[in-house]
Amino acid sequence: MLYSIHEQTSRTILSRTSGFLLSAGFTHSLTPARNCTFGCSYCYVPTMRIQAGLKKDDWDHWGHHTTFKSNAALLLARELRPHQTIYCSPLTDPYQPAEATRQLMPEILQTVAASPPQAFVLQTRGPLLLRDLALLQAIPRLRVSFSISTDDDAVRRRFEPHCAAIPERLQTIRHLRAAGLRVHATLAPLLPCDPARLAALALEATDQDLIADPLHVRADKPHGATTRPPGLELLARYPAFDSAHALSVIEAAATHAGRRFGSGPAAFAWLAEA
Ligand code: SF4
Repeated sequence: MLYSIHEQTSRTILSRTSGFLLSAGFTHSLTPARNCTFGCSYCYVPTMRIQAGLKKDDWDHWGHHTTFKSNAALLLARELRPHQTIYCSPLTDPYQPAEATRQLMPEILQTVAASPPQAFVLQTRGPLLLRDLALLQAIPRLRVSFSISTDDDAVRRRFEPHCAAIPERLQTIRHLRAAGLRVHATLAPLLPCDPARLAALALEATDQDLIADPLHVRADKPHGATTRPPGLELLARYPAFDSAHALSVIEAAATHAGRRFGSGPAAFAWLAEA
C-alpha cells in the first residue's frame, strides 16, 4: 500500500491507562505515531475516533498515512519512572511499515534502557523489530507480545495483507527467543484458523504462556472499540468459523503442553508480570 509519512511534536508521550489496559495492570501506554500503515481490515483503533486521539482523515483513510511524534524520546526521558508498567502500543504498531523509513523506535528504546520502568511491553506483528535486537536486549524487564492471528496465510492475506506472512512471524518469535528475550505469541485478534494447528505452531515457537483475544463484534460488545466494517465483511465469508470453539481447542492444547492460556485483560496481565 502507498502511504505518506508525517511528523508532529507532541505535548506528552506516556498516557495513563484506563479500561482494558488498566484492568490488565498497565499504568501507562506509549503511542509513537498516529495512524498505522499496516492498515489491517479489522483494526479497532479507527472505530475509537477522537477517543484514540485521531483526526477525521485518520479514520477515513486508515493505513494510508501516519504521523510520528518526532519528540517522543525527549518527552519519554522526562516522563519515565521506575514504577511504571508500559504498553507500547494500543493505538498503532511500533514496527509499522513506515518505521523502516522514520526509525523512531531506536531513540525510544535507548531512552527506555537508560531509565527502565517496572515492565516495558512491545505489542507488534512487525519482524522489523529484529533491526533493533541489540537495543531490545539492553532493556531490563522487556516483554514482546508478537501477534500471530491465524495459521492460514491465505486468511492473513485477506485480513491483513500488509503484514508479514505467518511463517516469517513465527520465525521472528523463534529468533527473539533464541536471543534471550521474553516473547509471547499473542493470538489476537483470532482470525479464522485451524485452532489445533495454530496452537501447535505457537507452542513450538515460544516457551511462554499463550494469550488470545477473539475479534470483537458489536453484538457482543455494545460500546467502545470494535472491528471495522472491512474486517466484518471478510469474517462473513467464514460462517463455519466458531471463535469460542477455536479458543477451547487452543486452551486444551496449551494445558496439555503445561502452559497457561487465557484471553482478555486477565491474560494480557501476564505480560506485566515479573
Ligand atoms: S497492526 Fe494493529 S494498530 Fe496497526 S492496523 Fe493492524 S491492528 Fe491496527
